[in-house]
Amino acid sequence: MENKTSVQAQSRSFKPADISIHKLRADFSDRVIAPQDAGYDAARTVFPGGIDHRPAVIIRVRDANDVSRVVSLARETGAELAIRSGGHSSVGHSVSDGGIVLDLANMRDLQIDAKGRTAWAQTGLTAGEYTKAANVHGLATGFGDTGSVGIGGITLGGGVGYLVRKYGLTIDDLLAAEVVTADGQLLQVDAKNHPDLFWAIRGGGGNFGVATRFQYRLHEVDTIMGGMLILPATADSIASFIAEAEAAPEELSTIANVMKAPPMPFLPPEAHGKVIIMAMLVYAGDVGAGEQVLAPFRAIAKPLADMLKPMHYPEIYPAEEGGGEYHPVAAARTLFVDSIDRSAAETILNYLQASTGSMAVAQLRVLGGAMARVPTDATAFAHRNSRIMVNVAALYEKPEEKPAHEVWASDFAAALRQGDEGAYVNFLGDEGESRIRAAYPGQTWDRLRSIKARYDPTNLFRLNQNIPPAGK
Ligand SMILES: Cc1cc2nc3c(=O)[nH]c(=O)nc-3n(C[C@H](O)[C@H](O)[C@H](O)COP(=O)(O)OP(=O)(O)OC[C@H]3O[C@@H](n4cnc5c(N)ncnc54)[C@H](O)[C@@H]3O)c2cc1C
Repeated sequence: MENKTSVQAQSRSFKPADISIHKLRADFSDRVIAPQDAGYDAARTVFPGGIDHRPAVIIRVRDANDVSRVVSLARETGAELAIRSGGHSSVGHSVSDGGIVLDLANMRDLQIDAKGRTAWAQTGLTAGEYTKAANVHGLATGFGDTGSVGIGGITLGGGVGYLVRKYGLTIDDLLAAEVVTADGQLLQVDAKNHPDLFWAIRGGGGNFGVATRFQYRLHEVDTIMGGMLILPATADSIASFIAEAEAAPEELSTIANVMKAPPMPFLPPEAHGKVIIMAMLVYAGDVGAGEQVLAPFRAIAKPLADMLKPMHYPEIYPAEEGGGEYHPVAAARTLFVDSIDRSAAETILNYLQASTGSMAVAQLRVLGGAMARVPTDATAFAHRNSRIMVNVAALYEKPEEKPAHEVWASDFAAALRQGDEGAYVNFLGDEGESRIRAAYPGQTWDRLRSIKARYDPTNLFRLNQNIPPAGK
């Protein structure tokens, strides 16, 4: 109890004036960005919109030694510490309001051992940058569906993407990490060294320290068969898509976005505004075999657009909308379901039609395969047996519309729930402790809390989906 009180007292008593920007500039030179600096607004901007946090200082660390010094500064001043890799946290956890941002953007070194099929990557890299560089060697590690997501956040939460059924989660390819813990020490973490911490950072998020480098396993993934397939959405086509995705070999991972069609130039004008399945498919195997596996998807309904083709794996990450200026605001929920039958598909169509958001989507990801073969207690990500991940979201522009969209998202998720109460931490919003516990069911929660108590007893790393130290 004593520690918690002192942590809270520290955060309450901290004032930005406690940090001497002058001294920081002497220590970190041009790596310090303060409110009076020209680049401050750009540096405090994160991917999601609607987040207007004003940190006292942003420090663009250069190496693990810098990281250790910033962690110590936060510990000594009591300032709130935000850790930023790719800045995609949907709740703005990577930008503190009034505290310190430790920004890893300048730590982008990547050492690929093509022969040994491993890579050491600094955590300022994005998934897209890593994927492009690895593809030069015909190799890949699986991340998510978006290239600009940072490898820091996605890896620490689990990592569900286009290779999930073939090779598992990102953490299933994590071999080792270097982590600066709350006491400022740099630890080598792997199955032999600090195995408890290695278990915890594979799903437990940024609760345990700042990961400065990850070592990943690489797989031979060069030319894949896949890309985008757009189908008209009906209850039948949605249910059939999911049935085909479940029946397909593990080489195939799919992400089906059911949504009202935006006015995309490659869609016939009569499809604009109608509900479509905008699916991304990746067959990581022989291209000819991939053609055959994709054929049943093409046959579900007459495609509105068929862009399936052999491609180099990084092409699955297209150039992103708005060149860094796209900052969507969304009301979103994440859940797992066991099946999407016609009735669940009807529910999806009804909610999408009813949304008043500028865009509304139900994203369906069939899981299983390699991900499901890892025992549930092998890592802090425990949802190995969950069958389908569903993310629902409504995008909107006006802040006053937030309550209505939040109700819609919450009702939509409730209408789809089938008994799997778990949640994937990387898609959680600001939904309170019960949902964080849903991300870490049963023993996972207790084990994480005791490891947290060992490595971060004062909860220095608290601006995250927080796991409080045991006993607090
Ligand atoms: C458009 C979009 C698409 C997405 N698609 C997918 C997907 O397909 N699959 C998937 O699994 N997830 C996906 N996500 C979720 C994504 O994995 C999480 O939002 C993740 O936290 C983002 O990582 P980041 O490094 O970009 O974010 P940041 O905002 O920089 O970091 C998020 C949090 O992670 C922690 N963190 C980050 N780096 C470190 C570090 N080096 N050390 C310690 N803690 C750290 C911190 O707590 C930080 O607050 C998506 C998110 C968005 C916005």
